[in-house]
Amino acid sequence: MPAKGVERSAVPTQNEPRSAAIRPTNASDRGVVVVGGGLVGRVTAWRAAQRGLPVTLVEPDPVTDPAAARAASAVAAGMLTPATEATFGEEPLMELGIRSAGMYADFVAELEEASGISVGYRTTGTLLVAFDRDDLAVLTELHGLQRRLGVAAERLTSRECRRLEPMLAPSVRGGVLAPDDHSVDPRLLLRALAAAGERAGAAEYTAAAEEVLSPGPEGARLGVRLSDGHTLPADQVVLAAGCWGEGVRVPGPVVPPLRPVKGQLLRARVPDGEPPIVHRTVRGLVRGFATYLVPRADGEVVIGATQEELGHDTALTVGGLWQVLRDARELVPGVSELEVTETCVGLRPGSPDNEPLLGPTRVPGLHLAAGHFRHGVLLAPVTGEAMAHALTTATLPEYARRFAADRTAAR
Ligand SMILES: Cc1cc2nc3c(=O)[nH]c(=O)nc-3n(C[C@H](O)[C@H](O)[C@H](O)COP(=O)(O)OP(=O)(O)OC[C@H]3O[C@@H](n4cnc5c(N)ncnc54)[C@H](O)[C@@H]3O)c2cc1C
Repeated sequence: MPAKGVERSAVPTQNEPRSAAIRPTNASDRGVVVVGGGLVGRVTAWRAAQRGLPVTLVEPDPVTDPAAARAASAVAAGMLTPATEATFGEEPLMELGIRSAGMYADFVAELEEASGISVGYRTTGTLLVAFDRDDLAVLTELHGLQRRLGVAAERLTSRECRRLEPMLAPSVRGGVLAPDDHSVDPRLLLRALAAAGERAGAAEYTAAAEEVLSPGPEGARLGVRLSDGHTLPADQVVLAAGCWGEGVRVPGPVVPPLRPVKGQLLRARVPDGEPPIVHRTVRGLVRGFATYLVPRADGEVVIGATQEELGHDTALTVGGLWQVLRDARELVPGVSELEVTETCVGLRPGSPDNEPLLGPTRVPGLHLAAGHFRHGVLLAPVTGEAMAHALTTATLPEYARRFAADRTAAR
């Protein structure tokens, strides 16, 4: 259903400019403009529309063709793994992740009901394994951290690991089973959020935002100037453009540097008639490198991923894919038999302290929802809740205050 005061000219046809998908008709359109249609922007738009706010989401790329989209959300593996991704020094972020993981089952049920789209949520847990003795020492330390964080994580011997996952290499030294670390298909999640947002009344405008104006046109507090020349009036704007957030001009130095962290991965498929290669997400430490295999119910397996700090470079490289395949094959030699269906590269949006930036900035009405780095899929439910709270009360919920968008300015 189109938002009040917004004329929807249906889904753009091939002959129609994409920017004409939605036309604002009058000043009563003003409400919330969300810039960016990755998972973070879309969950914010859906939750805000559910709260009765007039919402327009601005995104240049189509949600229906993930392979053509540049969003990190369309590349992500979809692991919801706060336990097996626990990192020393990142405890508050892990606690936010644990909160969000705990919200996932209800979030998925509500979203699937609202959108009519299944999002491939799998509750089969995650097995983290160590390849050599040094990797096992790291895994043992990590298990201590997991216990301190209070997450479910069971230490397993090499034989117990292989009993769970028979295709693991015999050389695997041991592992940790995290029964509550699940997975979801982020591409389906994107589509479901788009459909649920539309049904809740959010409109969508196919264009890139170039600048946030203060004041906006027609007496509005803010405005968003678009690449097609239109300016959308707004009471509130949420900048959720991933690692491209800095490219949108804003009225004041309120967007901290967002660094792109490149990840290369492969999508592959178990040949028809063959049994699954792994039954749950398998993460591994292989001579210090992190690797993972994420299976989907339809036989797809996502194998990833590199972490490279090379600015906005999105070249797929032989070296990057080789590293991913080398480590995955060390852990599960049977990956050699998989059929490669797609190679992908995405840019994780990293904030200066690797923690998300949520809620109001010092520019009245301008919010950030950015910097989700390696955890944007995991953090989708908690981000939607926190941003809807911020848009309706101008404050963040208590648990999210550490991640306030203006924290650097405050310090
Ligand atoms: C290889 C890889 C694997 C990952 N695996 C996982 C995982 O297993 N689990 C997990 O939790 N996270 C994972 N992540 C991280 C996760 O993908 C990100 O944290 C999350 O997708 C960030 O979402 P976002 O909406 O902020 O940004 P994005 O998904 O990048 O979306 C930003 C959107 O903004 C749009 N945009 C850009 N400029 C403009 C503009 N000027 N105007 C309007 N729109 C604009 C873009 O087109 C894009 O659609 C992974 C990331 C990568 C790269």
